[in-house]
Amino acid sequence: MRGAYRRIHNWIVPPYATLLVEDTLPKQLKRRTLYIVEEDGFQEQAAMICPCGCHSVLHMNLLPDERPCWRVTRHDDGTTTLHPSVWRKKDCGSHFWFRNGRVVWC
Ligand SMILES: [Zn+2]
Repeated sequence: MRGAYRRIHNWIVPPYATLLVEDTLPKQLKRRTLYIVEEDGFQEQAAMICPCGCHSVLHMNLLPDERPCWRVTRHDDGTTTLHPSVWRKKDCGSHFWFRNGRVVWC
């Protein structure tokens, strides 16, 4: 039931915004926003508040010489896709794909 509710909810609400920030993340992140931190023109990390509601901040490394590493694709409509999926193996255990600004639960 919960999965079905999430799918419907996802379909109604607008996609996540994407915000590019220089050097450092703000102390308070906004909900439903993917932050991309750039330093010297390089994308260093992506961050977002965990979509499960646990309020943790998820950090995804974007530097190709560190592991694990995610790839960010920006689309013409302003949305963003992350690859591969995001999986918090500890704490809340969220595992989802972030595609076109939308959270797709695994
Ligand atoms: Zn969570």
